[in-house]
Amino acid sequence: MDDTILRRTWAEIDLDALAHNYQQARQKIGPKVKYLGVVKADAYGHGAIQTARELETLGTDYLAVSSLDEARELRHGGITAPILILGHTPPEMTPQLIEHHLTQTVSAQAKAEAYSAAAVACGGTLRIHIKVDTGMSRLGFLVRGGHFTGGIEAIFRSCALPNLEAEGIFTHFAVADEDGGGDEQYTLEQFSIFTQVLDALAEKGRTFPLRHCVNSGALARYPEMYLDMVRPGIALYGVGADAERLDLRPVMALKSCVSTIKIFDPDTDVSYGRTFRTREKTRVGVLPIGYADGLFRSLSNRMSVQTIQGPAPILGRICMDMTMVDLSGLDHVHVGDEVELFGTRQRVDLLAALIGTIPYELTCAVSKRVPRRYIKGGEVVEESLRLLL
Ligand SMILES: *Cc1c(COP(=O)(O)O)cnc(C)c1O
Repeated sequence: MDDTILRRTWAEIDLDALAHNYQQARQKIGPKVKYLGVVKADAYGHGAIQTARELETLGTDYLAVSSLDEARELRHGGITAPILILGHTPPEMTPQLIEHHLTQTVSAQAKAEAYSAAAVACGGTLRIHIKVDTGMSRLGFLVRGGHFTGGIEAIFRSCALPNLEAEGIFTHFAVADEDGGGDEQYTLEQFSIFTQVLDALAEKGRTFPLRHCVNSGALARYPEMYLDMVRPGIALYGVGADAERLDLRPVMALKSCVSTIKIFDPDTDVSYGRTFRTREKTRVGVLPIGYADGLFRSLSNRMSVQTIQGPAPILGRICMDMTMVDLSGLDHVHVGDEVELFGTRQRVDLLAALIGTIPYELTCAVSKRVPRRYIKGGEVVEESLRLLL
């Protein structure tokens, strides 16, 4: 790849950190519990194929994505591990699900019936995981309160339909990553409902080889809930509330460089909207990164970028393609030098907290214009351009 492209703005993906995070989780769950790596949304911005390939090499048992298209991308990239589609797939796509050996989430009896009919029509068997809504109130069979008996009956009937293989059953937690009495209580309740569902189905003779409910938050907090498989996403990427608790390393670093340096006089307005005015002579660096690269505009005037010599505060508004930083006093920083927006020196969690969001949103937002550079053992092993050049 042309190096000048990479010298603009790029994301480094540390595959050794990914392996470390995977091993940390493996150690925590022990040899009997299976591992499903969540690689939806282009592996939270890290690159789905590269991430899945690495996880496959490491020995992951399962992968998960949110849609058929994401699953097809992985199969197209040569990934052979079992893949669970967490979201909805139109039942008329059942032949594709079967052809690509994909596992489909089933969240209601009507959907199970449609998948079954489509599988019968094409003469194949569709592997499914039943999703139970224990309190997230999103997808899943209703089982709370007065819905319990009807819910069990609906799941039981769904699993017995022809040409469906009910391999798994799962639920998703709403607040497993939050500390504090009320939230812990809520998670325990969700788990208790899930267990009651499993027991009621077992009594009717329906058991599942793969029962799972643990996301990253629960991985850190609730070992008693691991069951047959865990399902972490953000913990795999080494960020989020529990990264420290689990001794994880951030996988992605967003980097840019200094394209121009200018010395401005006092009382100079910088960038759109004139939200910053220099007080004294100011040495300003222009970075070729903006909100179109995934640097949230709401971080304007609120964060610093990390230079070789220390932090350089952002001055004024972040533009679509450019951002200005204060390099006064950072005399060793020159045109062409690298800066880190987030990564190991400045955690993405910190930036997310500054603008009242979660790190997931920031890594997912790193856009198509930003090439991903994969590092292993200190070497660049792959450079992936997202623009169709
Ligand atoms: C995204 C997702 C996960 C992973 O969540 P993290 O908080 O990133 O660990 C697990 N299960 C389901 C159903 C999800 O949608």
